Amino acid sequence: MSSYVYYQGQVVDEKEVSISIRCKAFNYGLGCFEGIRAYWDDEEKELYVFRMREHYERLLNSCKSLYINIPYTVDELCEATIELLKKNNFKTTVYIRPVAFKGSQALYPSLYDDDNRILIYCQPLGKLVEKDDFKVKVTSWRRIEDNAIPARTKPTGGYLNSALASLEVLQDGYDEAIFLTEAGNVCEGPGENIFVYKNSKLLTPPANDNILEGITRDTVIKLARDMGIEVEERSIARSELYSADELFFCGTAMEVAPISYVDKRKIGDGEFKVCKAIKKAFFGLATGKNDKYSEFCTPVYEKVEV
Ligand code: PMP
Repeated sequence: MSSYVYYQGQVVDEKEVSISIRCKAFNYGLGCFEGIRAYWDDEEKELYVFRMREHYERLLNSCKSLYINIPYTVDELCEATIELLKKNNFKTTVYIRPVAFKGSQALYPSLYDDDNRILIYCQPLGKLVEKDDFKVKVTSWRRIEDNAIPARTKPTGGYLNSALASLEVLQDGYDEAIFLTEAGNVCEGPGENIFVYKNSKLLTPPANDNILEGITRDTVIKLARDMGIEVEERSIARSELYSADELFFCGTAMEVAPISYVDKRKIGDGEFKVCKAIKKAFFGLATGKNDKYSEFCTPVYEKVEV
């Protein structure tokens, strides 16, 4: 079966796209990307793209910081994504990966060149990891500082930092890593934000602790407040993880996932009540069943305009 991708303004057969081994994006990681989900609702036979505008707004902000000048607007990228999903005729939950990058073959790792490219590919994706809860370890690698590689830009090269942390903890027998910042505050996972629930309050690290300002994180904050839970964005110390009543990750690929152990310490009573309630509300919202946030879900097959 053919797979269609979007490349430089057009939906084309994936086989027609190739990138040189000399490409700067491949050699130096000069690019940025997004990860978006579209949720399939089997009852309504509809595919809903989740917070697509916000993802493309973040991508264009990343492009601006990294000098990757993409001549498309958020609206145009949303329209292209709908066209691409329709062309692939997905009837299942899908992960969408837009990548903006430097396509030049020039040897020097400079962002100061005009060969800016964009592609989007997608693939079916159910649960990212077949686990009900995660045993995690605080990695010895520190999160990249904003003044080294701007974490807020979802830079392709920055994911070497994530990959090193994941490698370390997987080799040690854990499921996932938690980063601290250079200053020693809790930061995030390699590809997801983190929440602490303690004394009936939800805490999450603030934007200036070098996190990626996750779109799922923002959704969780909104849903928790709607449920009457107080949410505070503030720096979190490592030892606060150990004494939490609950801990959970959230992100586009990971969705909402409870953490059962940190550094071999059991978290709370292992019931994950708050996390489970938020997770349920999240899936309802993502499949268009929460009227308050209906604009977060773009239907693919019913409506062409976005
Ligand atoms: N932090 C990092 C480092 C990530 O890669 C991601 C995934 N995009 C997140 C957090 C979660 O962000 P979002 O909810 O927007 O997917």
